[in-house]
Amino acid sequence: MNPMMVKATRFLSLPVLSVFLLMFFVYYTTIFIFIDHWVGLQSSPGTFNASIFTVFASISIFSFFVCVLSDPGHVPLSYLPDVEATTNESAKDNAERKKCDKCFAYKPPRTHHCRVCRRCVLKMDHHCLWINNCVGYWNYKAFFVFALYATTASIHSMVLFICCVFQKDWDSINGSSFKIFYVMYGTMVMVLTITLLTLSGWHVYLTLHNMTTIEYYEGKRAKWLAAKSGQSYRHPFNVGAYKNITLILGPNMLKWLCPTSISHLKDGVSFPTIRDNS
Ligand SMILES: [Zn+2]
Ligand SMILES: [Zn+2]
Repeated sequence: MNPMMVKATRFLSLPVLSVFLLMFFVYYTTIFIFIDHWVGLQSSPGTFNASIFTVFASISIFSFFVCVLSDPGHVPLSYLPDVEATTNESAKDNAERKKCDKCFAYKPPRTHHCRVCRRCVLKMDHHCLWINNCVGYWNYKAFFVFALYATTASIHSMVLFICCVFQKDWDSINGSSFKIFYVMYGTMVMVLTITLLTLSGWHVYLTLHNMTTIEYYEGKRAKWLAAKSGQSYRHPFNVGAYKNITLILGPNMLKWLCPTSISHLKDGVSFPTIRDNS
C-alpha cells in the first residue's frame, strides 16, 4: 500500500469517525437550529454569526485532518548519538541506555517509543485515540491550533445556544421532546466546551514551558528525586516563554495559528537547551 493510503486508513477508526460526527452535529444544529431560531439565518446578525462560526468550524476540521494525516516524526535511519568524539565511558554507557529496546535503534533526545504505533516517535507528546495517531514533533502544532480553534467554535456555539434559549417563549411551546433536545444539547455543548478549554489550557501551559505531556510527568519525578538529594531540577528545554513559543509555532507571529506552517521545524533530533544559553 502506498504511504498516503496507509495514512488514509487512520480515518477508519470509531473515535475518529465519532469526532467527525460530533463536529457535523454541532455545526448543523448551531447554524440551522440555534442561529435560525434566534434571529433567522437571513438577518444580518444571523449571517454574520453563521459566517464566523463556519470559518472556525472549517479551520478546526482542516487542522484535524492535518493531525490525522501527518507523520508525527520518525527517527532518521542515519541517526547516531553524538558520542564518537568522546572516549568517556560513561557518555557511551549513557548513549547505550538511550537505545530503544523494541526498535533496536538509538533514540534522539525527547523521543519515545509508542506501543500503539509500534515505533519511536520524535518529541512524542502522547498517542491520541481521537486522531488515531501519535502527537509528535511534526503534528504537534496542528494539534495545538486544532485545540484552540475547536475551543473557540465550541464557546461560540454555546453562546448562540444561550441566546436562542433566552429569546424563546417557552410557555407557548407544547410537547416535551423539543425541550428535552435543548436540555441535552445544552449539557453536551457545556461538557464539550469545558473539555476543550481544559485541553487548550493544558497545551498552552506546555507550550509556554516547551514541555511535552510525557516530559511533564518525567519532570515531576525528576523534581521529586532532586529535592530528595537537596538539589533542584529545571526542565532542560525551557529556554524562555517567547523562545519556546517560536520553537513550536514558528518565528513569524502571523503564521502562529496556521496548522500547516511548519517550515521552522528542523530534523527533530536536537533541541536548544538552557545549557546552550548559559
Ligand atoms: Zn522504539
Ligand atoms: Zn502512537
